[in-house]
Amino acid sequence: MATQIDAARLLTLRAGDMIDKGIRCDVECSMAKWYGTEIGVNTTRQAVQIHGGNGVTKEFVVERLAREAIIGPIPDGTTNSEADCTYADRGSSL
Ligand SMILES: Cc1cc2nc3c(=O)[nH]c(=O)nc-3n(C[C@H](O)[C@H](O)[C@H](O)COP(=O)(O)OP(=O)(O)OC[C@H]3O[C@@H](n4cnc5c(N)ncnc54)[C@H](O)[C@@H]3O)c2cc1C
Repeated sequence: MATQIDAARLLTLRAGDMIDKGIRCDVECSMAKWYGTEIGVNTTRQAVQIHGGNGVTKEFVVERLAREAIIGPIPDGTTNSEADCTYADRGSSL
C-alpha cells in the first residue's frame, strides 16, 4: 500500500512539475489521474479489510475514505478514457 501511494504521489508531482514549467503533459496527467484514483480505491478497500468488521462502521475513518474514493476514477476523465489517452500517445511505441 505504501509503495502504491508513493508511486501515485510521484506521478502527480511529476505532472505538477511539468505544468509549472510549461511543458506539455497530457499523458503524464492521465497517468497520474488514472493510477492515483485507482490506487485510492484499492488502498482504502484494503484499509477497510485490515479493520475487519470495524472497517465498515462509522466509528473508523476508513469507512468514509473507502466510500469517497469510489468516485475518484469517474469525473474529469474516467480510468478508461485516461488509459485511452495514454495508449493513443504511447501505445504505438509499446
Ligand atoms: C462527483 C462528480 C462530479 C462531476 N463534475 C463534473 C463537472 O464539474 N463538470 C462536468 O462537465 N462533468 C462533471 N462530472 C461528469 C463526469 O465528467 C462524467 O460522469 C464522466 O465523464 C463519465 O461520463 P458518464 O458518467 O457519462 O459515463 P459514460 O461515459 O457513460 O461511461 C460509463 C463507463 O463506460 C466507460 N466507457 C465509456 N466510453 C468508453 C470507451 N470508448 N471505451 C472504454 N470504456 C468506455 C467509462 O470509462 C465508464 O466506466 C462529474 C461527475 C461526478 C460523479
